[in-house]
Amino acid sequence: MAKILLVEDESDIREVVCFNLRAAGHDVFEAPSGDAGVQLAKTHQPDVILLDIMLPDRSGLDVCRVLKSDATTKNSAVIMLTAKSEEIDRVVGFEIGADDYVTKPFSVRELTLRVNAMLRRSQAPVPVAALIEFGVLRIDEEAHRVWVEGNELELTALEFKLLTTLYQRRDRVQSRSVLLDEVWGIQADVTTRTVDTHVKRLREKLQAARAYIETVRGVGYRFLGHPNGASE
Ligand code: CA
Repeated sequence: MAKILLVEDESDIREVVCFNLRAAGHDVFEAPSGDAGVQLAKTHQPDVILLDIMLPDRSGLDVCRVLKSDATTKNSAVIMLTAKSEEIDRVVGFEIGADDYVTKPFSVRELTLRVNAMLRRSQAPVPVAALIEFGVLRIDEEAHRVWVEGNELELTALEFKLLTTLYQRRDRVQSRSVLLDEVWGIQADVTTRTVDTHVKRLREKLQAARAYIETVRGVGYRFLGHPNGASE
């Protein structure tokens, strides 16, 4: 059971989503506006916040920015609920710390899968083992060695870091600028295009494992949650 906050002004969406999340055993709070959402988030510190972008009083992006900069709420995972036409909002959302998004109209099943994936990630213990097995891919983090189908790959230090960064955040979209910060360091004098170039080269080297890194159009990249491609 987890604490989930839904910030959404459309009451029929609230009703359906809350009903299903409660049926799954979660503790669900609901807010019809951005301000009410921020208040509930501070009071209950939910594990996951489902955040609509188009809210009557303030933008969901603004709400996300507030939540991610407040010590009491910054650890809540934020899943944005965006319309298909709001691609630019998704990009901005990731820049300001959103963790995932679901496109409206969504099925309850799809939303539940994303919520569960988010919960598993936040509850998963930090692995001690440095040896990772993921489908045909094998990574020895300590030795900085990578194999695909048993054949060792020659990766540069940067490619190795890019691969492990994506892997550690698998099933979760990483924007180009987040990758730049994590892999290259914020002071690096490189552009987001550099990320694309390196991902392309890394994919070529990964051969049979190349499909594990998905392109999320307009946003960035996502390492699959499961080697056979299903999110769960
Ligand atoms: Ca709305």
